[in-house]
Amino acid sequence: MTPALERRALLDELVSKGVRLTAQRRALIEVIQEARDHLDAGSLLERARQREPNIDRATVYRTIELLKKMRLIDELDLMHLQGEKHYYEVKTRRDHVHLACFRCGRIEEFTSPLFERLKAEISHQAGFAIRLTRLEVGGTCRNCGPAHETSGGQEDSATGLNQ
Ligand SMILES: [Zn+2]
Ligand SMILES: [Zn+2]
Repeated sequence: MTPALERRALLDELVSKGVRLTAQRRALIEVIQEARDHLDAGSLLERARQREPNIDRATVYRTIELLKKMRLIDELDLMHLQGEKHYYEVKTRRDHVHLACFRCGRIEEFTSPLFERLKAEISHQAGFAIRLTRLEVGGTCRNCGPAHETSGGQEDSATGLNQ
C-alpha cells in the first residue's frame, strides 16, 4: 500500500472510545494496522496467530465487524481477482482509488483531488450524504500493459516504489 497515505490509528481510536480489548483482539488489530497489503480474513487470522495462538476465526470476524461499524477499516473486493474474498485495510485520511491489475494481481492505490471534487459534486447535486465511497478500476498495470512510449516523460522516479 502507498506509505504516503496517512491511516487511522486503530488502537488509539478504540481505547479513546472505551472499547475493551482482549489480547487476541489487540494482536489482530496490530496485524491489520501494520499490514502492507490488503489482506483477507484468512490471512489476517494466520498472521494474528503468530502473535496469539489462541485466536479463532470468530474473533477475527467479530473484530472486523466492530472496526467496520466504527468506520475505522474499509472492506474491499478488489475486482474479485481472487474469487469471492473480501479484503480489509485501515481507513486513510483521504479516500483512495484501487487499481487492480488483471494480469499480475497487483493492487495500486491512487489519490486525486478530482475524486474529492466528485464526492462534493455528488453531495451537492444529488443531495446525498456520503458515508463511504469505494472505487475500483480493473485493467493492466504499467508493468504488464503495453508501454506508453508516445506520451513520454509523464513518469518520474516516484513511480518506481512498487517493485
Ligand atoms: Zn500487472
Ligand atoms: Zn487501499
